[in-house]
Amino acid sequence: MKENMEDRIKRIHKNSAIVDAHFDLLMDVADKREYGHRKVIETSYLPGFIEGGVNIVVSSIFIESVFLPEMALRKAMNQISSLYAEIDESPDKMMICRSCDDIFKALEERKIGFILSFEGVEPLYNDLSLLRVFYELGVRIVGLVWSRRNFAGDGSYFSNVREGKKGGITNFGVQLIEEAERLGMLIDVSHLNDEGFWDVMELAKKPVIASHSNCRSIANTMRNLTDAQIKALAQKGGVIGINASNMLTSCREEDGDTEHLIDHVDHIVKLVGYEHVGLGFDFCDDFMKYFSEDTLAAMPCKPFDVLKGHKSIEQLTRGLMKRGYKDDEIEMIYGKNFLRIYKEVLK
Ligand SMILES: [Zn+2]
Repeated sequence: MKENMEDRIKRIHKNSAIVDAHFDLLMDVADKREYGHRKVIETSYLPGFIEGGVNIVVSSIFIESVFLPEMALRKAMNQISSLYAEIDESPDKMMICRSCDDIFKALEERKIGFILSFEGVEPLYNDLSLLRVFYELGVRIVGLVWSRRNFAGDGSYFSNVREGKKGGITNFGVQLIEEAERLGMLIDVSHLNDEGFWDVMELAKKPVIASHSNCRSIANTMRNLTDAQIKALAQKGGVIGINASNMLTSCREEDGDTEHLIDHVDHIVKLVGYEHVGLGFDFCDDFMKYFSEDTLAAMPCKPFDVLKGHKSIEQLTRGLMKRGYKDDEIEMIYGKNFLRIYKEVLK
């Protein structure tokens, strides 16, 4: 008997190890814990992870600009400690992953596995020795910059900003890449400016990822990757996690939907193949409450997620199937590609 589409979706989700390579939940979790909330992940996020079949979540340490520079280290520690506390409160449902063995343990025990990452190395300020400390705390992925300048390099903006000339990777940034690779940490180029991107392509010896970036040829923003950059990343064995923000998907408020997101998957697949696409949704709808009206008004368009959270991943699966994607191709995009790189780089 021929399998119907909904059964096929369920089977693909059951068979896939779904990896979301970028989620900013720790900022929210740490904030809520400061106000006395407990089991924040279990109550606010876990139901969505389960409904979407998500297994591994890369949880970024992101520091808002208002805390720079003095509070960056403290805020980072606070976000990491809040993840530890959450895991202590729900030990049968989630764990931190420091190695590939941990990742496979999480998959086997059907727990959500969290991998810690930097979204900008501001917590290090200019002290490279601190990288080892963050490694010991579990950080395994190093996004060099957010959309601003730090000691490692320059960020790319969502829209044009008035400023002087940009630079590439600094001397500190070069040492940071070398030390991160030596320790077994993975370099992430999302948010880097073009000059920095090309520097990393020369400097990094191991595969590099863009955890949450789309294609500039479809949505023309500096935050997205040009075709040449996508090819260079793939040539180094890297993976690009597609981003569900309308600002990187279509740059237009009126037409951001799942189909636009799939256009980016299609484009990367056509350019470099299935092996180099992953998911890095960067879901932000739940965090919009933190932004003022003025901040939102200054953005190129009102930001929203074109896919409505982890619970809606089936919608993406349905869309990919309708465009003719095979089961094994979807499984690669959903997790196998990122797992391959984690296996290659993480120590
Ligand atoms: Zn980001």
